[in-house]
Amino acid sequence: MSDTALVLVSYGGHGLLELPGGERRECKFRRSVGRPLCGDRVHIGQADQASAVVTQILPRDNEFARASPRGQKQPIAANLDQVLIVVAPVPEPSRDLLERYLVAVHSLGIRPLIVLNKVERMVDAALADDSPLLRLEQYRDLGYVVLATSCKGEPGIEALPPALEAQTSILVGQSGVGKSSLANALLPDLELQTGALSRVTGKGTHTTTTTVMYRLPCGGRLIDSPGVWEYGLWEMSQQELSDGFRDFEPFRGNCRFNDCHHASEPGCAIQAAVESGAIREWRYRSYLRLLQQTVG
Ligand code: GDP
Ligand code: ZN
Repeated sequence: MSDTALVLVSYGGHGLLELPGGERRECKFRRSVGRPLCGDRVHIGQADQASAVVTQILPRDNEFARASPRGQKQPIAANLDQVLIVVAPVPEPSRDLLERYLVAVHSLGIRPLIVLNKVERMVDAALADDSPLLRLEQYRDLGYVVLATSCKGEPGIEALPPALEAQTSILVGQSGVGKSSLANALLPDLELQTGALSRVTGKGTHTTTTTVMYRLPCGGRLIDSPGVWEYGLWEMSQQELSDGFRDFEPFRGNCRFNDCHHASEPGCAIQAAVESGAIREWRYRSYLRLLQQTVG
């Protein structure tokens, strides 16, 4: 037997696969093959009656990583199409939070979407003058998809299924913005799927500590990963940072110095674009603040 399968769960030396027909199968990992991630496409062989063995991990389109406590990239899932960055009026995002997330998602080569959850609370929210939530229309102008949802009132989560259809997505954001609530609303059969997963793995409910790929009723897939994708993230390089600002794109490469940091160098095309109004001042200010925190 040699077949391509999808890794739904990966923990330690074994995991759970989805076969091309949709059937689930427990599998073992061999040290020599490497450790698959949730979302990996793999070749499998037959181990015994009940389980398969991964014989090859197919090349990944991307790896979704989070920062370890020591600030290093720790891959937790592979082959994502998009990352849903969830923000809410409560808890209020810090002013550079969206830029950090957008740059980090860009550096992984994955498409970011912005989701404003608890939108029904926007009317009575006391937001700071420089709150990113007051600039969502401008993020739209920059070309980002911005969706509004509520798990508690209008307009519900109806904006999500069309955006998630046929895609593999993950929800990230600060603790308390509503990621679990959104996942529960999106997965009406969550308990069923979770139950089926732990039955197959026979290890009780791992889903509170393990990254799991779920099937969405709309046809897409949702990766649920415990914990928060900290916006401290890993330390970014100056290059990753400036590459992640898509409004810099038309001006990139026009600076006098090849290694321009777009800070105070003479002949900087980015600074000129800010002065002419082609790049928004607040975006550039955010860039400069984040530049202070890069690793060169
Ligand atoms: P997580 O930490 O990002 O997973 O957030 P949770 O899903 O645990 O939600 C945190 C709190 O916000 C809970 O008390 C939810 O009931 C509440 N919450 C989630 N979505 C909404 C929403 O759209 N509107 C309001 N008002 N509260 C919400
Ligand atoms: Zn420059």
